[in-house]
Amino acid sequence: YCGFIAIVGRPNVGKSTLLNKILGQKISITSRKAQTTRHRIVGIHTEGPYQAVYVDTPGLHIEEKRAINRLMNRAASSAIGDVDLIIFVVDGTHWNEDDEMVLNKLRQAKAPVVLAINKIDNVKNKDELLPFITELSGKFNFTDIVPISAQRGNNVHKLQEIVRRSL
Ligand code: GDP
Ligand code: MG
Repeated sequence: YCGFIAIVGRPNVGKSTLLNKILGQKISITSRKAQTTRHRIVGIHTEGPYQAVYVDTPGLHIEEKRAINRLMNRAASSAIGDVDLIIFVVDGTHWNEDDEMVLNKLRQAKAPVVLAINKIDNVKNKDELLPFITELSGKFNFTDIVPISAQRGNNVHKLQEIVRRSL
């Protein structure tokens, strides 16, 4: 089982932290130079017969400077149409217009989009999480919604189960 997975989201939501957590000690390869035709491979996680290839999607280079501008200017048929699963990472304590723009970009994706609500360790009042989830699920048809703490590792295994299922 093998598939390509994109972790997307505006800067500072915890994408790199999540990727590092997933790759952990089981990292097979991380290379800035490894290329596929349409993606830059940032990590491969192999577990038994499962191989998840994490990629940067050229259509979602949201960590570049002035990234949002670039994002908006990109052709509609970007590489997000070319992965098997998209993990959309948001900060459970801050939603802003950059999140909104990334989400709108995802409307062009063909792959299932999983919502990972990160930094739940920072959400002091857990009652606030439900309205947040309700609001976001009204904006987009996510296949799964998983509250996580990438930093502490909470629920990251649930996300990995979803990844395995998609391979
Ligand atoms: P990226 O820009 O999306 O790749 O975000 P980073 O992974 O660089 O994380 C941005 C900041 O958020 C860093 O200071 C992380 O330590 C912090 N961060 C990431 N995940 C969590 C989390 O689950 N909880 C908390 N409290 N902080 C986090
Ligand atoms: Mg990062």
